[in-house]
Amino acid sequence: MVNNDDQFKKVISHAKEYGYVFPSSEIYDGLSAVYDYAQNGVELKKNIRDYWWKAMVQMHDNIVGIDAAIFMHPTTWKASGHVDAFNDPLIDNKDSKKRYRADVLVEDYCAKIEAKIDKEVEKAAKRFGDAFNKQEFITTNQRVVDYQAKIESILSRLGKSLENEDLADVKALIEELEIADPLTGSRNWTEVKQFNLMFGTKIGASAEHSTDLYLRPETAQGIFVNFLNVQKTGRMKIPFGIAQTGKAFRNEIVARQFIFRMREFEQMEMQFFIKPGTQQEWYDYWKETRLKWHQSLGLGDENYRFHNHEKLAHYADAACDIEFKFPFGFKELEGIHSRTDFDLSQHEKYSGKKLQYFDPEENKSYVPYVLETSIGLDRMFLAVFSNSLVEEELDNNTTRTVLKLPAVLAPFKAAVLPLVKKDGLPEIAKDIVNQLKWDFNVDYDEKDAVGRRYRRQDANGTPFCITVDHETLEDQTVTIRHRDTMEQKRVKIDELRDLIKQEVDMKHWLMKM
Ligand code: ATP
Repeated sequence: MVNNDDQFKKVISHAKEYGYVFPSSEIYDGLSAVYDYAQNGVELKKNIRDYWWKAMVQMHDNIVGIDAAIFMHPTTWKASGHVDAFNDPLIDNKDSKKRYRADVLVEDYCAKIEAKIDKEVEKAAKRFGDAFNKQEFITTNQRVVDYQAKIESILSRLGKSLENEDLADVKALIEELEIADPLTGSRNWTEVKQFNLMFGTKIGASAEHSTDLYLRPETAQGIFVNFLNVQKTGRMKIPFGIAQTGKAFRNEIVARQFIFRMREFEQMEMQFFIKPGTQQEWYDYWKETRLKWHQSLGLGDENYRFHNHEKLAHYADAACDIEFKFPFGFKELEGIHSRTDFDLSQHEKYSGKKLQYFDPEENKSYVPYVLETSIGLDRMFLAVFSNSLVEEELDNNTTRTVLKLPAVLAPFKAAVLPLVKKDGLPEIAKDIVNQLKWDFNVDYDEKDAVGRRYRRQDANGTPFCITVDHETLEDQTVTIRHRDTMEQKRVKIDELRDLIKQEVDMKHWLMKM
């Protein structure tokens, strides 16, 4: 059985070997926490983005999209609170000279206690067999109850200290828990300091005339500053949403988890403008709707959970994460935040412009409240990719590597393979590619024995292989092989389009929501 570290290493090397993700500027030894999407990665990423866009924008009459610039007027970030408060608490280890996020050290400590709980549960499940009731066990077993209480007390103290900017207490907590540098075991820590995550840059041709700018650390503010423009030109009625996908930049303190935490990444965000007082209802609605979107992809319902925020960001009155089981454990994949009227009110204050909505039903104007859903596209990519990569034992005692990507997201929907490189088979195969490529991204592969080509397409996540053989010359039929079941069927060339469409069509997948 492979452990999680090994599994994660496999994910990273598979992503490189199969042309999904490369380290940025690798010939110069790469750039820390920056990655490039390669020929297959760019397709997978685009398909995830399209899947999100279709579910959020096309399928909601009251949600529209925008594409705001990455550069924004610098006052935006004063108003949003990012200049003053977009910080992470950092701590250095004096011996190893390694830098960590203080809150993450404490959270990782709690994750270890959680792993102990999981062990207890596993042991008990074995002992009690079919009669095992997990819920009863974790609420009554004294050891588990104590572990749980310990986690809660630590996280609640961390939350309070961070909220009160009491960094000395965060340090005290690390010392009391005897948390050591995970790499060296040293407990020789510096004080905890705040570190602003925004990247600064300059705009303008000469030094005297340049203005300081930030690279946006989130896409949301581009939506807030355009709220009134969109509402008026689109004649939008509350409740309505504005969606956007695009790059965001954060100078992350620690970024060692491949594309999970990058310094340049892409977000898919939607701000839903609502009547004040209705935020609980919409918070519940969007939690449920977003979870269903994730579940529609079939990565396993048990791999998702909600995590309520202990420490609320400066703008939120309720917030939770949808966490996903990555190879390194459950971690945030998407955030759902009830942002109140914080952002629009702040932009009113700093710009001096009214950002209000006249509600004809109420016959009055107000600053709308906002419900936000925010997901990292790269994190979603990692969730899909890592979950899909499996080593399968086959009947004949061999194994195969399969990338079981949801067919709707796979870079290539089918590969067309002539059995041999002669007798007119390549010509027919290319003809099939030419017919299918109007509808799908299709690969053509004639190199190596057909068995090896199947393996290659399996490892690349291609849901269908279509093989052209000598029978094709006689009756216009081909075999179509299914990636996951490896079943093969003989079908007419004319039937291929519909057969593939049935399984890769977004509608078929989104209808599961
Ligand atoms: P974390 O606690 O992991 O730093 P966050 O709470 O700061 O994340 P948000 O500000 O809520 O994240 O951003 C929304 C989403 O953007 C996250 O759920 C995540 O999917 C994604 N995201 C945030 N930071 C990064 C990053 N450095 N690299 C990749 N994706 C990110």
